[in-house]
Amino acid sequence: MNTVVSEGIIKVTSQCKACDHCSFICPTGAISGTLGQKHQINVGKCINCGQCLISCPFGAIEDISMVEQVKQALKDPRKTVVVQEAPAVRVALGEEFGQPPGTNVKEKMYAALRKLGFDQVFDTEFTADLTIMEEGTELIYRVFNALGVEGYEDIGPLPQFTSCCPAWIKYAEDKFPRILPYISSAKSPQQMFGPIAKTYLPEKLGVNPTDIFVVSVMPCTAKKYECSRPEMIASGFQDVDAVITTRELAQMIKEAGIDFLSLPNEKADRFIGLSTGAATIFGATGGVMEAALRTAYELLSGEILDKVEFKAVRGMQPVREATVEIPVKQLGKVIPVNVCIVTGIKHVDSIIEDVLNGRSNYHFIEVMNCPGGCINGGGQPIRRDTY
Ligand code: SF4
Ligand code: SF4
Ligand code: SF4
Repeated sequence: MNTVVSEGIIKVTSQCKACDHCSFICPTGAISGTLGQKHQINVGKCINCGQCLISCPFGAIEDISMVEQVKQALKDPRKTVVVQEAPAVRVALGEEFGQPPGTNVKEKMYAALRKLGFDQVFDTEFTADLTIMEEGTELIYRVFNALGVEGYEDIGPLPQFTSCCPAWIKYAEDKFPRILPYISSAKSPQQMFGPIAKTYLPEKLGVNPTDIFVVSVMPCTAKKYECSRPEMIASGFQDVDAVITTRELAQMIKEAGIDFLSLPNEKADRFIGLSTGAATIFGATGGVMEAALRTAYELLSGEILDKVEFKAVRGMQPVREATVEIPVKQLGKVIPVNVCIVTGIKHVDSIIEDVLNGRSNYHFIEVMNCPGGCINGGGQPIRRDTY
């Protein structure tokens, strides 16, 4: 299975009432149409973020569904169906079952996934930890390269941009291809999970890799596009076979007649079910930056983290900046690391222009497309009562 995305992940349906709201929301100008005229999405400009979908007052925008492929795999006795869920899912899923926003329903979600028939239930936090380690280490190498430390000459330039938001990656590819060498080479947590599930798990479970079917539950419509990218075959197979959103998981649970709130609390499965917990903050803006900075700080200083506060990178303003002083044992000096956090892709253009024109003094820049981060992703529950 490789869902065809050439026609786009997001579509305007015949229910469009031509109110023009979505064209104000779209950060890339991908939506055309005027008041009174059915609107259309230009696939070439669309970054699949789904912000238009969750904002349309008439529910007239849809994303491609992979639910049928998931159901088929769950019915197939030859398949071992493995599922991962991103941190932002667990605090939004409960809303679909009447819980206040922000209620953590992780352990009931694990139970619901098992009731739906998933054979192995994990958490994307394990591979979010891997992303943190990769990005933190890569940042250190890029800083060493910039400082002229021998042995790091082949590493990319500074600043390093984060790479885990597929909407941001498509935006950079489409509009600013010259910025690509500045983007971290680390795969997103979703895409790190796929190859591990298809190589390590078959060994541990004694099953054929071709019989492993990997499903992601994501707060994000762009993750459907990401899993379908042709290069995402590191295991020799499509690494992640299908992505469903928080909304689609809630729908599957309801359709199956599962009484979600009465479910027992359960744990994730072994092997790749553990994590440090640092990745939990990935879902909010500044979270990836904070987690990677902690790793870089520890590796460079050899000091214990408890002494370090990274509160400066927290907050909800669309562009935030901070300087973190990191003592570097290897060099015997303290280096200031200038960081920037961007939430909402429309705020990134001037920052990119500064980098490309040599005017930027940042070392590390986090970019997340959705305002506030993945907690407000295009796959999250839709709160129509706010209209
Ligand atoms: S917001 Fe919805 S109804 Fe309004 S123009 Fe866009 S798609 Fe049509
Ligand atoms: S998915 Fe995002 S980029 Fe695509 S049309 Fe909707 S708002 Fe614009
Ligand atoms: S910010 Fe998060 S939810 Fe939004 S497009 Fe990026 S990865 Fe997806």
